[in-house]
Amino acid sequence: MRILLVEDEKKMSSFIERGLKEEGFVVDTAFDGEAGWDYAHTNDYDLVILDLMLPKMNGIAVCAKIREKGLRVPVLMLTARDAVEDKVKGLDAGADDYLTKPFAFDELLARIRALLRRPRTLEQEVVLSAADVKLDLLTRRVWVAEREVSLSQKEFALLEFLLRKKDEVVSRAQIAEHVWDLHFDPMSNTIDVFINFLRKKIDAGRDKSLIETVRGAGYRFLAA
Ligand code: CA
Repeated sequence: MRILLVEDEKKMSSFIERGLKEEGFVVDTAFDGEAGWDYAHTNDYDLVILDLMLPKMNGIAVCAKIREKGLRVPVLMLTARDAVEDKVKGLDAGADDYLTKPFAFDELLARIRALLRRPRTLEQEVVLSAADVKLDLLTRRVWVAEREVSLSQKEFALLEFLLRKKDEVVSRAQIAEHVWDLHFDPMSNTIDVFINFLRKKIDAGRDKSLIETVRGAGYRFLAA
């Protein structure tokens, strides 16, 4: 899952970024409201974390623009102030939740998980499954036919994305956008390499891979 973090305080930003990356999220960072808005509407994020007080454009204005543009991405607002009116303004502008600084990282993570489970994606379940593959988002464990397999963070993120899109053809560009960050080179063969890593781990003993290569289009995870 790919998250946009818009926070101008460098220490806070790197603290959040590091923590989220350790949890397997892909994180892009912006340090002012204008850059945040640029990223938010040019990339397809699964969640935006938006600080309220930002240079150039404040968080409420960024959030309002995101909603004006019709983007339904969940927005979690961060505020240093505990003023009720800020929260109301943020929620009025279309934020889905807010968190007052300082906060414990675990609380941020719990809010993020709750937002990612909301019906926007119509997927409230914690376990994604297709064929005999099961992936648990909370414990970050994966089973193939009751046998647990161990995946790297990237393999896990790739499998999660394929399972969310099971039976659909997903292009390399879509995969890159949700599983890798802005610095990813779409012309490299990294995605194909990771698809092969994943196949080695989930296809043992099968005649045919669960991850079908659709020539000229991308990949499809076969659900049945
Ligand atoms: Ca700030």
